Amino acid sequence: MTDRYTRLANGPLKALVKTLGLPSPVPLRRYRDGAYLSEPVLVLGAGAAADAYAQILLDNGFEVRRKPTSEKLSAVLAFFDEAQTPTDLSETALEIGGALRGLVRCSRVVVFSRDAHIAPERPADVDPALNAARSGTLGLMRSLAHEMRGGSTANGIVVSDGVPMDAPSVQGALWFLLSSKSAYVSGQPLHVTTADGEATTAEALAGTHLDGRVAVVTGAARGIGAAIAATLARDGASVVGVDVPQAGDALARTMNEVGGTALQLDITAEDAGRVIAQRVGAPIDIFVHNAGITRDRMLANMESSRWDSVIAVNIDAQLRINAQLTEAGAWGSSPRVVSLASTSGIAGNRGQTNYSASKAGVIGMAAAAADSFAAQGGTINAVAPGFIETEMTATMPTLTREVARRIASLQQGGLPDDVAEAIAFLAAGSSGGISGTTLRVCGQNMVGA
Ligand code: NAD
Repeated sequence: MTDRYTRLANGPLKALVKTLGLPSPVPLRRYRDGAYLSEPVLVLGAGAAADAYAQILLDNGFEVRRKPTSEKLSAVLAFFDEAQTPTDLSETALEIGGALRGLVRCSRVVVFSRDAHIAPERPADVDPALNAARSGTLGLMRSLAHEMRGGSTANGIVVSDGVPMDAPSVQGALWFLLSSKSAYVSGQPLHVTTADGEATTAEALAGTHLDGRVAVVTGAARGIGAAIAATLARDGASVVGVDVPQAGDALARTMNEVGGTALQLDITAEDAGRVIAQRVGAPIDIFVHNAGITRDRMLANMESSRWDSVIAVNIDAQLRINAQLTEAGAWGSSPRVVSLASTSGIAGNRGQTNYSASKAGVIGMAAAAADSFAAQGGTINAVAPGFIETEMTATMPTLTREVARRIASLQQGGLPDDVAEAIAFLAAGSSGGISGTTLRVCGQNMVGA
């Protein structure tokens, strides 16, 4: 599906779009254009973590500035991890503001903070002013993301107490957020909750960091699943693509293109997990639960077949497959599981009670299964795409589709590759400290924002 408006707004209609104040989405810089920008990175904040990251960036080949500058910048890193009260936010916040006009197109702001405790999970002894400062940092980051221009993004890295600010997963999250791989991620906090994860570098995370890993991708025949298969294969993984027999030809084509193996299987089959374990025949390092369907109807008109089939494919099959792979001892030594949720599972969506129930279910499953995967040295996370240009969204009514694209801060739909890059990042060895979370890949869509 092509976004004709974005093409026109950046071509023949550019002047008119500007005059009328219409949305002017900027073509995003993606991985094929290079992993990182070359302009200097400004590091703001006076604490030990800011100093450490200035050095880490230098060690990774970035040019670094420690004071506001009039030079063009590719990124601003802002450290709020030592903020004790909301008044501590102002100096660094205003310095970010002063740097924004110097940012080049498709640049990045990354805000570092410690975890705020939000009800109902808060410990009894949390200091209200400290918690306000931490929570306030996220509010700042989310609003800033709405204000970013020129295809640039703002995101947060939120590190739990007790986890070193320079833990491998914090560094891994930084390389992802700084790179073009996070083109369609904006306004999102990435939570690092443990110090686990393999050490990585900016260059390694931009390269074949999944070499030798075995990855299974469901729904791999087309759309987002095909992009995930291609991206994991690009990063070095051996991919097994699963899809229904009716999609056999498309699956074979996709797997031929990526050098993967096709497995025709309906994931709702009672023994799907056992069949996958047996057919893959090797420890599974990465499992991407991507297969999903919509059967939209208002709840008042919902037939049981529509409700049941969506629950069966989108969440029930995932639960059963995970359990059967565990029973079969099929996981590798530090498995990475990533499940496709949706912003509809966060915000709800008219006509999608079944779909939203299934996708909110995925978010709940990832949160609850994190501990059992941690016991195997692994992680499980969800990725919630917003509006992505695929055959699924191509069937939307024209006006609904156009609105869905423009209500994101980046004013456009994402591409399957954007979702795939987030999954490849969560599949990386360095992401071991990120588990039980949901990462939105939605261009900061207002839905559920
Ligand atoms: P798609 O319809 O283009 O592709 C889905 C694939 O899953 C198809 O190849 C299909 O044959 C396969 N599949 C369906 N049922 C299956 C089953 N029982 N067993 C095996 N394979 C099965 O969808 P897409 O747009 O690429 O979406 C992929 C995932 O991303 C889905 O989980 C979807 O809910 C989620 N998602 C998509 C969007 C979007 O904007 N496209 C937004 C949010 C979430």
